[in-house]
Amino acid sequence: MAIYFISDLHLEPAQKAITDGFLSFLDSLKGAEELYILGDFFEVWIGDDYSNEYIELINQALQQCSARGTKIYFMHGNRDFLVGQAWCDNAHCELLDESKLITLGDESILLIHGDSLCTDDVEYMKARVMLRNPQWQEQLLAKSIPERIEFAKQVRNESKESQKGKSYEIMDVNQEAVDKALSEANCATLIHGHTHRPNIHHWEFEGEARTRYVLGDWGDKGWFIKWQAGEELKLESFDL
Ligand code: MN
Repeated sequence: MAIYFISDLHLEPAQKAITDGFLSFLDSLKGAEELYILGDFFEVWIGDDYSNEYIELINQALQQCSARGTKIYFMHGNRDFLVGQAWCDNAHCELLDESKLITLGDESILLIHGDSLCTDDVEYMKARVMLRNPQWQEQLLAKSIPERIEFAKQVRNESKESQKGKSYEIMDVNQEAVDKALSEANCATLIHGHTHRPNIHHWEFEGEARTRYVLGDWGDKGWFIKWQAGEELKLESFDL
């Protein structure tokens, strides 16, 4: 029995090594019970009504993985927040809410993409309220596909520009936000991505030992977390 967690692949046609690495990663999962995709799977998503050869390739790989018996869960990131039920159905993934509490063995684990924990980035948190607003999303999805492609480019450029002026600390998770999320979930272990700072953090909060596993973004390496019954969670990587 094995369960895998990945995030921040930022899949797009230009990233051939990452795409190939992901396809072979899926092949290597044979027999895995579950795969959790924790956001920013796609670099950009403009709506489930738009597809192309590249998206079809990814869909097919996910369908095949699911047909081999692996249950796949999909959580939104800040880039692919427009992924909807239609795509999830097509790709045989179950769409998750923006946070999910799961139980592995006798341990509760909270899953979050991670952007909601970066509360020091006040500018982004403001934008996030808009980006995650269902009415705003509906209006965006009502626009034509070329308009949406243009909009996505604009958002990406603006995000790159605004990141330039921000410190390393501002773009990391806020410790209070992490502790609040864990306390609200009555849980001591968190898995998230988003920050592209793969690591395992241990600390104590009000006498309780807590752990935060941070997935890495896929680039030179592919990153995943693996759970197996009776073992600790493992953060692993492989060369792409
Ligand atoms: Mn992200």
